[in-house]
Order: sequence, then C-alpha cells, then structure tokens
Amino acid sequence: MPEKILVVGGAGYIGSHTCLLLAERGYEPVVYDNLSNGHEEFVRWGPFEQGDIRDRARLEEVIAKHKPKAVMHFAALIEVGESVKEPVAFYDNNVIGALTLLSCALNAGIDAFVFSSTCATYGLPERVPLDEQHPQAPINPYGRTKLIIEQALKDFGTYKNLRSVILRYFNAAGADFEGRIGEWHTPETHAIPLAIDAALGRREGFKIFGTDYDTRDGTCVRDYIHVLDLADAHVRAVDYLLAGGSTVELNLGTGTGTTVKELLNTISDISGRPFPVTYADRREGDSTTLVANNDKAREVLGWDPQYTLKDIISSAWQWHSTHNG
Ligand code: UDP
Repeated sequence: MPEKILVVGGAGYIGSHTCLLLAERGYEPVVYDNLSNGHEEFVRWGPFEQGDIRDRARLEEVIAKHKPKAVMHFAALIEVGESVKEPVAFYDNNVIGALTLLSCALNAGIDAFVFSSTCATYGLPERVPLDEQHPQAPINPYGRTKLIIEQALKDFGTYKNLRSVILRYFNAAGADFEGRIGEWHTPETHAIPLAIDAALGRREGFKIFGTDYDTRDGTCVRDYIHVLDLADAHVRAVDYLLAGGSTVELNLGTGTGTTVKELLNTISDISGRPFPVTYADRREGDSTTLVANNDKAREVLGWDPQYTLKDIISSAWQWHSTHNG
C-alpha cells in the first residue's frame, strides 16, 4: 500500500502539481480543500475530501480515516493586495486555519509537516540574492501571516515532536507539460497569465507597474520558478522528513532574475503574438528585486531545478491557450 500524504489545498495551483509528482513517486495524495480557490477538476491523483482548515471536527475525521504519514499545507490566501484590504480574513485563514490544522496533526501523532511559505516573509531585501539567513521583516499582512506560522513550526519543532520543512517560494509559474492542470486564479493578478491573456487577445494589453526601479531596464526583477520544480522540492521534502530529517527552512527559486520587460519579450517571442504594453505607476508593496540563493535547498534536498524561463512560458502558454479560467 502506498503511503498516504494529506495535501491540504491540493486542489489549487501548486498543490495539484505536487499531487501529480507525489503519485508518480509512489505516494498516495489525499486532497483536503474547501474549493474556495481550488478546482475539483484538479484532484486527479488520489481521493478528495472537501473541508475547511478551520473545521477541526472535519479535519479530525479525515485524518482518522486516512492516517497520513505527513501533511503538506498549501491552503492559504495569497494575494498581497487583498491582504491589505481584508487582513482579518487573512489572519483567520492563514493563521487560525493553519494552527487548527497543526494541532489536529499533532493530536493524531503526525510528526512530519511541509509548509508553503514565501519570499514575502523577507520584506525589503537588504542583499540579493536572498539566503535563508536574511532578516525576516514582511511588509504586508500576507507575509506576516506566513511568518507567524513559520515561528509556530519552529516552536513546535523545539517543544513538541513536529518536524517541518518550510519552503519559501519565489515566483511560481508554468504548468504541467501535458496540459492537465495549470494556473487558474479568479481574479488573476500575476504577470505571466495576464501577459499571456493579452497575447491571446483576451485583455487589451499589459500594464507594467513601475519603470523607474533601480534595475537593468527600470522594471522589477523576479525569480520565476516552474511549478513542477516546486512540486519536486515538496516531494523531496516529504522523503527527507520520512527519513528522519529535522526542521529546516529553504528558499525555492532558480537563482536567476528576470525583469518584467524581459518576461514580456519572452512571452511575445514564444507566442509569436506581440501585444500592447503600457506603463503605469509602481504597485504598492512591490520589492525591486527578489532572487533566491537556492544553495541550501540543493544541499538538503538534492534539489536541482530543471526548467528554464522558456519552459515556464511555453507550458503556461499551452495551458492558457486551451483554458479560459
Ligand atoms: N506586474 C506588472 N503588471 C501586472 C502584474 C504584475 O508589471 O499586471 C509586475 C509586478 O509589479 C512584479 C512582477 O510583474 O514586478 C511579478 O508580479 P506578480 O504579481 O506576478 O508576482 P509577485 O512578484 O507580486 O509575487
């Protein structure tokens, strides 16, 4: 019998890609998701249990039924702009929900936990690339909710028997190359899907937020990492914990930065469809440059991201041109 892994938020973008790889590598992903942002169509590699992370009774029931060996926690509100408008909802879901899930896991004797965190916990970079020792001073409620759970995980590692891998994502992008699952957010705010929609003629064009940043072409630099490379790191994190690994935090990025203008040029080249670009003011809360130092993830997990920006754009193009989410 394959070992079961509870994938909380497994009907979402990164969670569903992780389920795909978990199943390929011999685990059985059990998805727990309230479908607030996830899609039931994305649950294809194991059983689905609908539920909310703030629903203790439902969590206890699902954990007792499946007896997972580890929990992966993807279920969070993620939009920085929304976190400023609706901070109570963010604390409710991302903090109270995560703590409810953690206490249910601990009560059931589960000692392995993989947590989706973010480079937004660093706040404004003092040095780039960012390593895990960089001070954490998030500049918005989203980043703060994630940091609170990181701190809880460290305390539960020290004072309770819970080992965790905290994964700090940079910019997740791209899709399954077979087109089964992909990025599907409503509303969409991320640069790659918005630019692809512009190339597909579904939007009038693309607005660049800020052209006066201190970067090589004045636009923000980000580290775009293929969602399947992220998924691979998650499966390795489960392997690591089930082999007895101790609590660790790891950056997940490629180590290479891309400006918004470079990103748009790559999308025009790959799609063969140039689209109108306009320039707008900076977006509140955007850091100039976010690029990962990924040495620690390579060392601890033996992780080696495989996919290039071209792979990211071509897989995203294939997904969005066949799905209108
Ligand atoms: N961006 C942009 N126009 C858009 C959406 C995003 O210029 O319509 C820029 C944004 O300012 C940032 C980069 O693209 O510099 C990546 O933004 P995204 O929202 O995809 O990810 P974030 O880095 O905010 O997590």
